[in-house]
Amino acid sequence: MIAREKLASHLGSKPAPGDLALVQAFINTWVFDATKDLIQTRDGLRTWLSDLELLDPNASVTDCDVEQARAVREALRSLTFTNNGGPDDPNARDTLNRAARSAQFAIGFQSGGRAGIEPRAPGVDGALGKILVIALDAMADGIWQRLKACPADDCRWAFFDETKNRSGTWCAMRVCGNRTKARAYRRRHTHAGAAAEVYSQPKRTSRDSAEPNP
Ligand SMILES: [Zn+2]
Repeated sequence: MIAREKLASHLGSKPAPGDLALVQAFINTWVFDATKDLIQTRDGLRTWLSDLELLDPNASVTDCDVEQARAVREALRSLTFTNNGGPDDPNARDTLNRAARSAQFAIGFQSGGRAGIEPRAPGVDGALGKILVIALDAMADGIWQRLKACPADDCRWAFFDETKNRSGTWCAMRVCGNRTKARAYRRRHTHAGAAAEVYSQPKRTSRDSAEPNP
């Protein structure tokens, strides 16, 4: 079980339950409106993974690992965008299939008559494999489809949709839902709207306030 308190800032007001929160947090190590990508350097990636006990703090991390981790993150984001009505993304699936091969998955028999899939690869490949296993488990449990990426072009924050009929669309209606609707309104009703949008710098408020679902 993961230490959720370490993930709080990556979960916002709609956190995923159990270990799926780790996948959500991984996707949210960067979103479109943030300047800082927490895993864009070797040190950043090592720190993030080792803080969550997915990687040895002394493990070597290469530029290739950073590239791979960011590709896997964006592939997972793409899948959660599909969960929110976005298109199927074969490239994302290819990326994840490649990451699964690099993780060298094997069946591991555990005490208590349990067994599961475990990555055998060391280092970052193995750490990414642990994240993929959580996604796989969530798919088997039927909760994966509730992990969604916000469709706002300048957001794509991953959130967990707890609505009964899985109808939640936005990470925060007050922030992204209203902003996107206002833009669509401007586009429809004014010629200047489209131009204004190009020059406007989106500003967001905290996602952490409690939000009713749309
Ligand atoms: Zn959003």
